Amino acid sequence: MQSFNPPVRTLMGPGPSDIHPRVLAAMARPTIGHLDPEFIGMMDEIKELLKYAFQTENELTMPVSAPGSAGMETCFVNLVEPGDKVIVGINGVFGMRMKENIERFGGEAIVVADDWGTAVTPAKVEEACKNNPDAKIVAFVHAETSTGARSDAQAICKIAQDNGCLTIVDAVTSLGGIELKVDDWGIDAIYSGTQKCLSCVPGISPISFSEKALDVVRNRKTKVPSWFLDLNLVIGYWGGGAKRAYHHTAPVNALYALHESLVMLKEEGLENTWARHAEMHEMFKAGLQEMGMEFVVPEDQRLPELNSVWIPQGFDDAEIRGKLLSEYNLEIGAGLGDFAGKVWRIGLMGDSARKEKVLFCLAALKAVLNK
Ligand SMILES: *Cc1c(COP(=O)(O)O)cnc(C)c1O
Repeated sequence: MQSFNPPVRTLMGPGPSDIHPRVLAAMARPTIGHLDPEFIGMMDEIKELLKYAFQTENELTMPVSAPGSAGMETCFVNLVEPGDKVIVGINGVFGMRMKENIERFGGEAIVVADDWGTAVTPAKVEEACKNNPDAKIVAFVHAETSTGARSDAQAICKIAQDNGCLTIVDAVTSLGGIELKVDDWGIDAIYSGTQKCLSCVPGISPISFSEKALDVVRNRKTKVPSWFLDLNLVIGYWGGGAKRAYHHTAPVNALYALHESLVMLKEEGLENTWARHAEMHEMFKAGLQEMGMEFVVPEDQRLPELNSVWIPQGFDDAEIRGKLLSEYNLEIGAGLGDFAGKVWRIGLMGDSARKEKVLFCLAALKAVLNK
């Protein structure tokens, strides 16, 4: 056995995305204790920077020490109690996982189904709210990474609010990629991931809870069934003030990386980051269309950061992706679930949403498909 030296790839799949050298360098700095006053100072900065990224004043805005899936579970395990009705929009894999979470924690899932490759339809959510006046929560995925569809989070949250429901929003692929305004849109609980448009290392999940959602967590009839994800306990470590208590050992160096990636987001400016993702998508779209490739998602519902295209007739999915990887060190994503073998998912996320990478990806695709 020797040291592991990974190849240098260009990551243009559904995540992880390319990581900027500044973020990797931050990660290599000396480890200090997770209760070291210097570390606690950095934790406070991460919380401030995450509030900026989420556009929220929510006091409980912090990174969960585990990947996006744990952020999802944090929202559901804390807010859903046995017997609760939860309206859930399903238009791809991650909506299905939400339903799975609801049911595992004893809730009743009221499914609002939309076709894969399209957005969650706000009017259907409204109808479900009207038919279920006792529903407690509306949950949906803002940016459905399995298909590349973008749902109208603002409209759906407004409907939920008007019907007295809390909202749980999956923003794993939307945070830092497209417009997202937690406070303006009235989102109660939201989770994201670090390895998509934030271009940070995988394994951390930023979350934010409104005061209203926190009240629901504090006043549960039953104990949160997960010890690790119970926010009542996690707050003892991530909550404000100098008095922090040990809950678990934070991933110290990964948090240096998150801090750096958020500083870079702040330097670029959130609106500029959103605009860059949109511009890179336009450039990529023009190149794909020149090659005769077709998008899965209708234009007005497309995510700029996740481009799903139909695999052209006569080409083998795994063979083409394999060639891109071995000959060009380029990773693109395969289709998930119903789309396996039919669709490629090409991510323009964070540091992968750059002109030189868009052009490289188009050129490599052209070369491999023409052979
Ligand atoms: C990637 C992703 C997740 C899961 O995140 P992990 O970090 O892989 O656990 C959840 N929801 C969406 C929309 C995602 O794209």
